[in-house]
Amino acid sequence: MEEERLVSPGAGLEEIEESNIRPVRLLDYIGQSKVKENLEVFIKAARQRRDPLDHVLLYGPPGLGKTTLANIIAAEMGAQLRSTSGPAIERPGDLAAILTNLEPMDVLFIDEIHRLNSSVEEVLYPAMEDYCLDIMIGKGPSARTIRMDVPPFTLVGATTRAGRLSAPLRGRFGVVNRLEYYHVDDLVTIVTRAARILLIEIEAEGAKEIARRARGTPRIANRLLKRVRDFAQVNNHNVIDHETAKDAMDRLEVDELGLDAVDRHLLLAIMQKFGGGPVGLDTLGASISEETETIEDVYEPYLLQMGLLQRTARGRMATALAYQYLKQAPPADIAQRAAQLSFLDDLGEDTLHGAISRAATGDSASAEAGAVEMPGADGAEGQASKGEVGGSGNAKPGSAGGNSRLSVSREGLFD
Ligand code: ADP
Repeated sequence: MEEERLVSPGAGLEEIEESNIRPVRLLDYIGQSKVKENLEVFIKAARQRRDPLDHVLLYGPPGLGKTTLANIIAAEMGAQLRSTSGPAIERPGDLAAILTNLEPMDVLFIDEIHRLNSSVEEVLYPAMEDYCLDIMIGKGPSARTIRMDVPPFTLVGATTRAGRLSAPLRGRFGVVNRLEYYHVDDLVTIVTRAARILLIEIEAEGAKEIARRARGTPRIANRLLKRVRDFAQVNNHNVIDHETAKDAMDRLEVDELGLDAVDRHLLLAIMQKFGGGPVGLDTLGASISEETETIEDVYEPYLLQMGLLQRTARGRMATALAYQYLKQAPPADIAQRAAQLSFLDDLGEDTLHGAISRAATGDSASAEAGAVEMPGADGAEGQASKGEVGGSGNAKPGSAGGNSRLSVSREGLFD
């Protein structure tokens, strides 16, 4: 289902074509300025010392440029990139084989690192810390461990679920970067650059329309560009102008906020089948035939960011803003219900969403935080998250806060 979704940020067949437009140097990597600035310094310093770069953790929703950044880190370090993913490394031996085959200074990229199993993770700890492996030989009383060296390397881990990472693994990353949804201006630059590489003629207003509907995600922006090109081509429009872009995306059912049919279905299900919520994630997933993990990773972060969805201790709720946007009549007590439930039960994950929400509220200092503290299940970050989430995901529906946030990012939408 997700693969077929036009605004899905996950990688699909289009990935092959995307490789042409994937930036290869830091200079071409648009937006995420704090992350970029910090990495630039760390890379320069490591190169001067002739050391491998410290291990880097990149987290944030899919399609925001984590893989791209891993490639760039290797290129900037003048090193070789080896790529794998959490689910692909099944046994400790698989990881040991990968690690012992590395060349000195290689960059090892592990995508979906939160899906590594714990026995594999344990092999990773000494490798990350001391560049060595502890290998168990034999079984029972005669079993013993031998230590093997691995070449000095940099691990770049990527995850959409920072909260799912175990504390020991998290603690072994020296550089932790959260990637944020992109501002429309940055997406305009990304679309324009991609159009140039793909030899598509596009006017500034056309690029802006695509950028506005791309859910803050470069992969979606590039994908929309290609679909709009198809419409333009079939209709004999050589240049993508505002009208062509708007018309194509209307036909693709991607609306002004970048929501597609599935997003609207999800929100409408909460409103029409569950009286606005709260509804548990499993129940919601079953009612719209979507995996709960897909809802959490793909749909929810953006709906939260836009203030259309709220996570509460007892489940998901549609906000008053969502009712307004989808032109549905809200139940009289929705604001009261939301206020009563306006705290969250799962801080580890929610801190991440809180972070995403900060981007939406225009809190640029934290939204663009580069090397940041990892949100944990406790401590100050957790506290901050409670407050932050109150500012967006938990914005009192119908409050000025919720509305102004949307109208800041999508001027005049409700005028
Ligand atoms: P992730 O690994 O986070 O899912 P990717 O790194 O695969 O995302 O990025 C998806 C696509 O978006 C890339 O192929 C690239 O073309 C584009 N992209 C991502 N980030 C940027 C950026 N900062 N500047 C330009 N293009 C980007």
